[in-house]
Amino acid sequence: MIDVYNPATESVIASVPVTTSVTPAVEAARAAQPAWAELSRAERATHLARLRDLLTEHADELAGIITAEMGAPLGVARKVQVGLPITVLSSTVAQLEAPEQDVRLGNSRIVRDPVGVVGAITPWNYPLHQTVAKLAPALAAGNTVVHKPSEIAPLSALRLHELVREAGLPDGVYTLVTGYGDPTGAELAGHPGIDLISFTGSTTAGRKVAALAAANVTRVALELGGKSANVILPDADHTAAVKVGVANCFLNSGQTCTAWTRMLVHESRHDEAVELAVAAAAKYTVGDPTDPSTRLGPLASAAQRDRVLSYVERGVADGAKMVHGGGAVPEVGYYVAPVVFADVDPDAVIAQEEIFGPVLSIIRYRDEDDAVRIANGTRYGLAGSVWSASQDHAVAVARRLRTGQVDVNGGAFNPLAPFGGVGHSGYGRELGTFGYEEFTTVKAIQL
Ligand code: NAD
Repeated sequence: MIDVYNPATESVIASVPVTTSVTPAVEAARAAQPAWAELSRAERATHLARLRDLLTEHADELAGIITAEMGAPLGVARKVQVGLPITVLSSTVAQLEAPEQDVRLGNSRIVRDPVGVVGAITPWNYPLHQTVAKLAPALAAGNTVVHKPSEIAPLSALRLHELVREAGLPDGVYTLVTGYGDPTGAELAGHPGIDLISFTGSTTAGRKVAALAAANVTRVALELGGKSANVILPDADHTAAVKVGVANCFLNSGQTCTAWTRMLVHESRHDEAVELAVAAAAKYTVGDPTDPSTRLGPLASAAQRDRVLSYVERGVADGAKMVHGGGAVPEVGYYVAPVVFADVDPDAVIAQEEIFGPVLSIIRYRDEDDAVRIANGTRYGLAGSVWSASQDHAVAVARRLRTGQVDVNGGAFNPLAPFGGVGHSGYGRELGTFGYEEFTTVKAIQL
């Protein structure tokens, strides 16, 4: 059994079993897949709509489970961690209800088939969203799914699994295998009965998953880490850009793969940006995630807290200026007070590696080419942002960024837009029609 800890109290709140073999789950998924794929799109839409309604009905309960298993403040858990999966299920239902697009190329009719059995492996930072972002489109396309949730936060997946059954989805359509990354996740990734592995997590584990899948020529989609840049051009509204930038970096205690952890500011406005960032960071109260006034809960685990603190020490040792941080945190719980570093060398470890905690690095640039060079100067490429008084100018800079997504002047997260990265942030896309297509294979029928 694996103990699950509440990171705010450090107490064990549940234990989940280590799956000894994933083969029975994979076989159940293989057995269920043809009949599930035979259902009409409208029938699969009805099943997913029922699941969406159950998630909506149990939203507060699910938010409570997520707060308890990984520490997100209740408000964030309710609005983002549970709100987003409900939105994703709704958009998937709408997609299935729309008529299927008949693509013709010369004498060929192009159709999309399900891939077959999908192995899904997910992390702990948005445990329900990352699951539903795979489950909804995979099931919509006629696949069945075997899912290994994170061993740190598996409880929302267990509750989701119960709701899937309550929604009346057939046995074997969604199966859970709890356990550690190695051996359970590794066994799933290397299993010959899996047709596609959809992985979200660290680059280190993603690389292992892809290598294991290669043995069976299993298709792979990888949603990995990030070190995204918030590029603030000199003519931008710095008050808004810095405030939104700090909020983006600290959301979910900085445990967000798309977090804008590097704030790039023109050298002429560096000090002003630092002042604004410090003022914004000071508003982040750290504490009990069930208290409505809390903006920063604990990190998800003791190991993650220690990792973040060691990066903070490294930043100081490498000469970055800590302009905010080191504030008091509750004695019990895996808390880290938010940190702002200024004058960070773009090549420093804290500006290159994913920290996954509430740590912001402010970096100076000389001119626009320098800003683009710094923004593109990590091995990652997941998200990013550009701010300018001119939207056209911001879009021109956005086009130069080597990354999967860019928000211009605070453009809102769009759950229909393709989500995914380049470089060490992985490959493949989730959400919307692009995400749906990831779980299909194209067939050309010549007439
Ligand atoms: P992790 O890689 O340690 O674990 C993720 C999942 O992979 C877990 O279920 C884990 O048990 C499993 N796993 C670990 N080693 C494995 C192996 N050898 N074979 C198969 N499975 C294995 O990551 P984490 O610490 O849970 O999550 C944080 C990471 O996830 C961060 O790097 C973050 O950026 C990334 N992430 C990426 C996205 C995205 O969409 N790009 C979203 C959220 C998180």
